[in-house]
Amino acid sequence: MDASSVSPCDLDREFALQIAQLLATPPLQSAQEYYGELIRSKKLDGIRVSYSGKHGKGVYANRDFGEDDLVLKDQMLVGAQDSLNKIDCVVCSYCFHFIGSIEYQIGRRLYLQSLGGSGDGTTERHCHGSDVGSSTGCSGASNGNSNAVPQEVLLSLMDGNTLLPLTDQFCLPPVVACPGGCEGELYCRFVFLIICEYFLICEVAPEMII
Ligand SMILES: [Zn+2]
Repeated sequence: MDASSVSPCDLDREFALQIAQLLATPPLQSAQEYYGELIRSKKLDGIRVSYSGKHGKGVYANRDFGEDDLVLKDQMLVGAQDSLNKIDCVVCSYCFHFIGSIEYQIGRRLYLQSLGGSGDGTTERHCHGSDVGSSTGCSGASNGNSNAVPQEVLLSLMDGNTLLPLTDQFCLPPVVACPGGCEGELYCRFVFLIICEYFLICEVAPEMII
């Protein structure tokens, strides 16, 4: 069936020819050259992309690999943190490095847990926001757990007013809000500076640092 004839999207109809060309299987020779160049550019000598009439296209090993040997390392094209995982940890939306501080990570995790779960990890979690105070934050009432850490202690951890032992040995980059205002998107300072350069933003405004 011609997908463009049933698609409700105007773009599908307008660019049906270009879309079909992009989705078409490339000629075997050009695909072979593409993968060959890709592997050479990555300086990988242990694998190759080959074709067989029986199994089709596949990645084959040129040699035996031992435990912990690197087989393939490639640049990530697209990545996103799972929304449920955002409850557990705050990471940079670009490089996924943990950001903030150990205290911030632990305080925020316990705070969200106290709002929406049983604390033992067995209750279905209802949080979908990425930060405390988010309008898309947790639903559900406090569980009333008498063993819970007092909320003021958790807030103190998140604010940086309470320090845990030895955490100065595990410094994390500061949390920086998305300069474009994307809700829930946080970055490490390193990536933020790259973004600033891209958008020609010269200074980090104080309200951008969380
Ligand atoms: Zn980052």
